[in-house]
Amino acid sequence: RGKRAFIAGVADDNGYGWAIAKSLAAAGAEILVGTWVPALNIFETSLRRGKFDESRMLPDGSLMEITKVYPLDAVYDCPEDVPEDVRTNKRYAGSTNWTVKEVAESVKQDFGTIDILVHSLANGPEVSKPVLETSRNGYLAAISASSYSFVSLVQNFIPIMNPGGSTISLTYIASERIIPGYGGGMSSAKAALESDTRVLAFEAGRKHNIRVNTISAGPLRSRAAKAIGFIDMMIDYSLQNAPLQKELTADEVGNAAAFLASPLASAITGSVVYVDNGLNAMGVGV
Ligand code: NAD
Repeated sequence: RGKRAFIAGVADDNGYGWAIAKSLAAAGAEILVGTWVPALNIFETSLRRGKFDESRMLPDGSLMEITKVYPLDAVYDCPEDVPEDVRTNKRYAGSTNWTVKEVAESVKQDFGTIDILVHSLANGPEVSKPVLETSRNGYLAAISASSYSFVSLVQNFIPIMNPGGSTISLTYIASERIIPGYGGGMSSAKAALESDTRVLAFEAGRKHNIRVNTISAGPLRSRAAKAIGFIDMMIDYSLQNAPLQKELTADEVGNAAAFLASPLASAITGSVVYVDNGLNAMGVGV
């Protein structure tokens, strides 16, 4: 039987989530995605109109099929958590069942089980502010959207994950080294995500035989990264300083995710796996 994957955080064809979906599809997995509610309309319209057809192309020439797109806002665990202004917001009012718990229930109803869970989402409203100037609300929002969202997805999806399954998130080296410009508590959020990767690997491994890993990815010109504002500089810095002097492609991260989700990685859990052309290993710039 082929594997089934749920990938949270796909809203266009530029980010890591899309590339991971493609690599998993190329390896034979069935693809379900969770798309941020306000981005759902444009994503589904673009898919339907063939705007992504070129980038849906898999190595064998076929096009990746996304079996179902679920609206998702990973900041809310259940309907009771959704504040009135969000519920009635016109970008949300057209969709239903988009809290984490409800999405997991919908996937269970539609498909029964999954084998692979991918978290490829982050948000930090004050990311462009240094930590010294970050508000409590901004910091907590970064942690909620970028770290607890993973805990919540794992909590809610583990009951429908087949034993032997695998979960993967995306992190960034700003968790452990100083990266000026990655502010607003986003560096803290990635540190929490990496720590949770270890603790959840223990808990989910012992209790459910599920593996938990995170990929520390190098810089990619995604929509989210462009919003931070320093992505071109980070790409130039990597080209200049990394052991491998080439631009990192999203596919390289996608392929690492497919490996981690596969039986080839059956003894790997609780790990931060660097997919960054080796930049993390450098001690000084050159
Ligand atoms: P992206 O814009 O493709 O993906 C981020 C996604 O998160 C978007 O689709 C957005 O709609 C979604 N999202 C935001 N808030 C959400 C919420 N509350 N609920 C559901 N979805 C929500 O950008 P990306 O850079 O590919 O980001 C994917 C992951 O990769 C993130 O965790 C990011 O931190 C990580 N990462 C990115 C880089 C980089 O340079 N681009 C480097 C290292 C790690």
